[in-house]
Amino acid sequence: MDANDMGDALERILISEQQIADKLQEMATQIDRDYRGREILLVGVLKGATMVMADLSRLIHTPLEIDWMAVSSYGASTKSSGVVRILKDLDSDLGGRDVLIVEDVIDSGLTLDWLTRNLSSRGASSVEIAALLRKPEAAKVAVDVKYVGFDIPNDFVVGYGLDYAEKYRNLPFVGTLAPHVYQ
Ligand code: 5GP
Ligand code: MG
Ligand code: MG
Repeated sequence: MDANDMGDALERILISEQQIADKLQEMATQIDRDYRGREILLVGVLKGATMVMADLSRLIHTPLEIDWMAVSSYGASTKSSGVVRILKDLDSDLGGRDVLIVEDVIDSGLTLDWLTRNLSSRGASSVEIAALLRKPEAAKVAVDVKYVGFDIPNDFVVGYGLDYAEKYRNLPFVGTLAPHVYQ
């Protein structure tokens, strides 16, 4: 899917396919430097992190394994409540592992705050975060993110794994939707 398939649903492209690719290469280079001599367990958060995981993991040379979690916030609102429910847990035992959580976007930070605590409590040697996007203005809790792609404004974005009502995940770029789509 690309911008031409979107009719008038797309407002604008915020981060292009090329910008994403360049940034992921920078992040992978830094990760390889930091984890030299170790092995990484990449933990992706379904479903939004699928594209970042696929592309970032292929740029990392350090030996790694990939595992997935699915979580959901309690409560009816579309905003994170900070209370997280595990829908699908990891297959891996975390004892002694160097865990690197791979995320699409950090919004309030509540999900990742909960997740890092949860994974650390399982005996991981280290738990760090790599996120493609971060919205500094939306932060409700400070999360220590070691690898960040882009800081973006506090707008709802779609594409490159991120959905609106499960659509638009397959856009190769990150963009904003025209207001008529969600109003
Ligand atoms: P947080 O707990 O940081 O508030 O929210 C994290 C999750 O909310 C993200 O992993 C993502 O699934 C969803 N989310 C936050 N902001 C956006 C956005 O702008 N677009 C989309 N599609 N999902 C978002
Ligand atoms: Mg996510
Ligand atoms: Mg979503």
